[in-house]
Amino acid sequence: MECISVFDMLKIGIGPSSSHTLGPWRAAERWIQHLKNKDLFKNTIGLKVNLYGSLSLTGKGHATDLAAMLGLAGTDPEYIPINDIDTIIESIHSTQQINFGGLSLVNFNPDNDIIFNKEFLPFHPNGIKFTAFMDNGHIESDIYYSIGGGFVVREELKHAKENIKIHKTFPFPIQNATELENYCKHEQLKVSDVVLKNEHSLRTNEQINHELLRIWNTMLECMYTGCHSEGILPGGLNVRRRAYDMHQKLKGDATYNSPDEWLNSIRNTEVKFRQILKWVSCFALSVNEVNASLGRVVTAPTNGSAGVIPSVLMYYLVIENHKAGFNEIKQFLLVAGEIGSLFKKGATISAAMGGCQAEIGVSSAMAAAGLCELLGGSPEQVMIAAEIAMEHHLGLTCDPIGGLVQVPCIERNSMGAIKAINAAELALDTDPEHTKVPLDKVIDTMWETAKDMNTKYKETSEGGLAVRVNLADC
Ligand code: SF4
Repeated sequence: MECISVFDMLKIGIGPSSSHTLGPWRAAERWIQHLKNKDLFKNTIGLKVNLYGSLSLTGKGHATDLAAMLGLAGTDPEYIPINDIDTIIESIHSTQQINFGGLSLVNFNPDNDIIFNKEFLPFHPNGIKFTAFMDNGHIESDIYYSIGGGFVVREELKHAKENIKIHKTFPFPIQNATELENYCKHEQLKVSDVVLKNEHSLRTNEQINHELLRIWNTMLECMYTGCHSEGILPGGLNVRRRAYDMHQKLKGDATYNSPDEWLNSIRNTEVKFRQILKWVSCFALSVNEVNASLGRVVTAPTNGSAGVIPSVLMYYLVIENHKAGFNEIKQFLLVAGEIGSLFKKGATISAAMGGCQAEIGVSSAMAAAGLCELLGGSPEQVMIAAEIAMEHHLGLTCDPIGGLVQVPCIERNSMGAIKAINAAELALDTDPEHTKVPLDKVIDTMWETAKDMNTKYKETSEGGLAVRVNLADC
């Protein structure tokens, strides 16, 4: 039984990609730990990184090379100051040395020591091999797979459940939506109550509140930053940030000095019907523009889809319920995290395995479910909301232009958010007795669709928009 915590699904990290940035970063950390465990770390005098499959094909645009270097330099994506990133990378390039594990200088020339291989490793499309050269001639290698949402598995343990966080102590072990719904029914609990009881077996209530607040504050700060940052996104596609202009038009003459004041100022603004969609889109774009510029976001369930959940939650706070506070935020995140874990268990949250349905589709389902519960939906309706949101993302391909997480990714978050809101509303008006497609069936369908999808539409930039749009024209 695979039991995944909400905090495994919602992780604070750096953009632009959870599978291509956060995963390789965490893999490098694990590699360092491996060398330390084998007492090889201090003898390391050289390093090589081999990237395979999707990590290689879209690795440049997704900053996989930078993430590997930052991981090898011993930094933590959750806490590294954003402004330090460029400095560290420039220093590695100029000195051709890396501060390995933050402890000792080791020769490292990124141009030669990071190798982009076109071949795919058999287990998963996102493979990364680390090799360390010792002063006594010994060579130590290990392969890791970044399986989506920042989750990493080690080659040697790729079939072992130990690779994935297992919390055997959950009072309500949940493998699929039917089980979750049954627990709710038998215990007369909301989805968020069941999830909270599981989380209580891992952490105290204070710890849960502290972590969820930290996650929400990161989301809010991210939207605030995105709405107040002008210019062109990095990467060479010349994509202009749009959240800034949209926000300027929407905000009127509101004044504020912090993200919290900003939120309250929007709550005090009269929002016309047409502007609701624009606000939601603006929130979603803002997050993914921050993500595209290697800013700090919350993986939800991935970085490419990080804008959907915050924008739908903001919609609830600024449009639906001006009195809502931390309790509602907590409820929303607990439900969203649990729904995301159902997709991880039954299908995938990796675009390299399932295309964009695994990213935007899953995030939309998570957000729809969270919103549905906040709007008074029963557990059955919460499942229906998630099902509707995913049903209308089935088959969505991943074809990012130039391998960057920008086009279609940024806009796609606003579409995922709008669909989530509509899915929640439709679910609230659906009699569970008359629903035709249970959530488990749509999860199965998504997985089957993922397996049938041509590899060129799975985060390789070898199909779709990525080959139809001429980069020279951008
Ligand atoms: S197209 Fe979708 S899945 Fe692919 S990188 Fe963009 S957001 Fe992620």
